[in-house]
Amino acid sequence: MMLFKDIIGQEEVKKRLVHSVQENRVSHAQLFLGAEGSGALSLAVAYTQYILCKTPKGSDACGMCASCMKNNKLVHPDVHFVYPVALKKGSVEKSTDVAVEWRESFLENSYLNLSDWFSSLDAENKQPIIGVEESGEILRKLALTTYEGEFKVMIIWMPEKMNIAAANKLLKILEEPPDKTLFLLVSENEEALLSTIYSRTQLIKVNRISDEEIKESLIEKNQLSPDDASRIAYLADGNYNAALKLTGENLEENLHLHKFREWMRMIFKVDVVGIISWVEEIANSKVGRENQKAFLLYGLNIFRECLVGMYGDKTLLRVDGEELDFVQKLSTKLDGNICKQLSDELNEAIIHIERNGSAKLIFTDLSLKCMRIVKKQVPA
Ligand SMILES: [Zn+2]
Repeated sequence: MMLFKDIIGQEEVKKRLVHSVQENRVSHAQLFLGAEGSGALSLAVAYTQYILCKTPKGSDACGMCASCMKNNKLVHPDVHFVYPVALKKGSVEKSTDVAVEWRESFLENSYLNLSDWFSSLDAENKQPIIGVEESGEILRKLALTTYEGEFKVMIIWMPEKMNIAAANKLLKILEEPPDKTLFLLVSENEEALLSTIYSRTQLIKVNRISDEEIKESLIEKNQLSPDDASRIAYLADGNYNAALKLTGENLEENLHLHKFREWMRMIFKVDVVGIISWVEEIANSKVGRENQKAFLLYGLNIFRECLVGMYGDKTLLRVDGEELDFVQKLSTKLDGNICKQLSDELNEAIIHIERNGSAKLIFTDLSLKCMRIVKKQVPA
């Protein structure tokens, strides 16, 4: 089910799309351009559902008519999806070959990104491509008579992943658009698009979602506390998909990872100004001593993993995903000796936190010491 009201923020775009339908000036080729997690794909799907709805309620689809029932499950016969796939000769050559997986993934998270999609295909290491077979498929679908709607809609997610032959064929179609057919292209990267495709479409710019809107949605839909919701909204930086991942079971761990990564970045850059505001945040009494201690323990764990990665058996690493990525990058900047010295400082800070020292002083002092260790220089 994808209605406008289910989409976070983006009120301006929604209004514009609704008007285009109400005023009967729906452009035949539109490019929804928005960064990952902005909801560009969700908007294109909600727009489609609205256009095809038999009994729209003002500015949204009804969600219940025969057409909506099909769109709710992404099985409307006049709505076609094209998306990148992991090509496998003879079995996966075009979108419809993995249509079941696509529906499942989108219905589970309509803010999904390309790597979510590929991990649901178990194809993380494969190249995402919209191949040349796809253009034949598009032509075949365009030749079908519409089942019940007035319009046929072709939603193309990530047209920037089209190989050149496929892109050229699409361009030909856009140049001589078939009757009553709507092309909705959804892209994250205009620079990777053929400029000729770009110029053939009407641009619908989808901005990042505001922190406030993400926060409200997390409170309402994910039952987060206002504090957690605003911390996550801040880290997600307008990307709702990233926010959803941060709300997972490992909320505290995820927050530690982000906070620790941010801290290390500033330590290596000797960014004293940045450190001061970072300390203000972690030393805030709302965070509490237990959380401050947990953060330091987390840091110790990361350094331990770095050491294992450097000297030990890599199969003993206990981190994965984003964390593993971070540990690997951090390891390249450290050696055993530095790791040991940093760990000693963290241990000492833990003791001071336990003795109820001033968190602000402890974290400031710790940060400066760590800068000295990694740079062997004293900031002025
Ligand atoms: Zn409806």
